[in-house]
Amino acid sequence: MSYTGRFAPSPSGRLHYGSLICALGSYLVAKHFHGRILLRIEDLDFYRCKKEYTTQIIEELNSLGFEYDEPPYIQSEHTEVYEKAIKALLEKNKAFYCDCTRAKIKETPCTCYQRQQELDLSKPHSVRYRLDGIENIFDDFLQGKVKTTFNENTLVLKRADGMIAYNLACVVDDIRQGVTQVVRGSDLTDITPAQMCLYKDFKAKDVSYLHLPLVLEDEKHKLSKQNLAKPVLDLDTKENLLISALEFLGQDISRIYVNSGCKGILNKAIESFDIKRINSLPKLCPYL
Ligand SMILES: [Zn+2]
Repeated sequence: MSYTGRFAPSPSGRLHYGSLICALGSYLVAKHFHGRILLRIEDLDFYRCKKEYTTQIIEELNSLGFEYDEPPYIQSEHTEVYEKAIKALLEKNKAFYCDCTRAKIKETPCTCYQRQQELDLSKPHSVRYRLDGIENIFDDFLQGKVKTTFNENTLVLKRADGMIAYNLACVVDDIRQGVTQVVRGSDLTDITPAQMCLYKDFKAKDVSYLHLPLVLEDEKHKLSKQNLAKPVLDLDTKENLLISALEFLGQDISRIYVNSGCKGILNKAIESFDIKRINSLPKLCPYL
């Protein structure tokens, strides 16, 4: 079977070091398997995502030498697809309407599926998904069996404010785009079994997963835009950044030279890429 991978950043800021690791990791793995690599912009969070960041991220990836096999897929241009997917799950009784507040859900699990007839749908409501038969374990390409701690009985698909949830859009698009392996950061391991339930309900073939090491900003916290991680291109030259990211992914950089330029570095990195050298343990960001 041919391989299709993807990099799916969220434009809530410019690329940071963690996103560079995911961009490079997903790129190298796809090239290693002689596959295709796609770029998907996950911009459904209308509070945090901005069009200007979408443009910047695409430009930044381009300037780092990454070449994608299709034009960027922008999620906000396809909302009707997610609405259709939600409708299909509602019709199958896998999804249901919910009027719980966020505070209430934190205290007691949502059981709105037992009182669908009583709900007043003229008032704000979300759509949730029943996580039947979720298993808290899955196979990771690098880490083997991974145990997760996610213990919710339901998952939001569409929020009361109309925002399509990440988990739904991500699975719908991975299926539509024919993604065969999801390579992403280890911050998403916990949600993986819930996403696998959605695959089943869409009668889609499961993808395989490879979770890359997390970039930490200190012993406990992952580097993220919420923690105001600096834009990666402000930290060093593009060539140095690529080499540092290769080192972060455990790759042999002894024959990779700064003066080859970004594309030259990426080509060399593809040639010498050794997937087994990626250590999945979290590591501190080298630019702290
Ligand atoms: Zn509810």
